[in-house]
Amino acid sequence: MIIRDESEMLALGEKIGEEVQAKVGSGDSVVIEMIGDVGAGKTTLTRGIARGLGVKEAVTSPSFTLSKRYGFPDGSLIHYDFYRLDEPGILAETLEETINEPKTVSIVEWGESVNEILPEKHMVIKISYNEDETRTVEILK
Ligand code: ADP
Ligand code: MG
Repeated sequence: MIIRDESEMLALGEKIGEEVQAKVGSGDSVVIEMIGDVGAGKTTLTRGIARGLGVKEAVTSPSFTLSKRYGFPDGSLIHYDFYRLDEPGILAETLEETINEPKTVSIVEWGESVNEILPEKHMVIKISYNEDETRTVEILK
């Protein structure tokens, strides 16, 4: 689908977050992989998802802290960013622990290096730039 601006990206995320929240409420763990270049809108979409889940705190890019955990009434959201991490090591270990934690949503940016530890059943969202600042968002699985 075509997303025209930041507010539409947030609204899409909110919708996804509401759907995911229903699954998490029944005890599932959900993993979402975000694919897209720098500035595509992965973190913006994550902010929307957080809102839909019921996270009250402001979600910021985890680029420097590498991962951040946020609570919401039914569980937690953990946002990972493996950008330019040549040795995913410890962060990959943390991810491995949380992807199976019940009532947890793990969102992973730049997850290529840890793809083998992501569960087969994870969700994949791809965001690409268009020439006019809009973005194309594809839910690949
Ligand atoms: P990423 O995490 O993929 O590097 P961010 O979400 O941090 O990207 O940044 C995306 C930037 O692009 C934001 O500053 C946002 O305001 C801007 N932007 C412009 N147009 C759009 C759009 N159509 N959808 C999402 N973000 C957009
Ligand atoms: Mg980002």
